[in-house]
Amino acid sequence: MLLVLVAAIAVLAIVFGYPLLCYLSPLTACRRCDGWGHATKTGRDGQLRRGKDCRRCRTTGKRVRIGRRIYERAAEVHRLGSK
Ligand SMILES: [Zn+2]
Repeated sequence: MLLVLVAAIAVLAIVFGYPLLCYLSPLTACRRCDGWGHATKTGRDGQLRRGKDCRRCRTTGKRVRIGRRIYERAAEVHRLGSK
């Protein structure tokens, strides 16, 4: 019984938590550059150096969450359909 309760709470947290997260924080770190906006490389002295600019996020280091993108697409369809 306790396991069912824990599973139900986990499912509810996912179902309501992810949309809330997309509403509160629509942007997150770029997956390719981990939010740096550029690659990192190690120089000859072992120090971290700035590498090439990230083309995926155009050096912003941010990306739009998938849930937010789905919401924006649905809102656009709704807006266009209800003109
Ligand atoms: Zn990036």
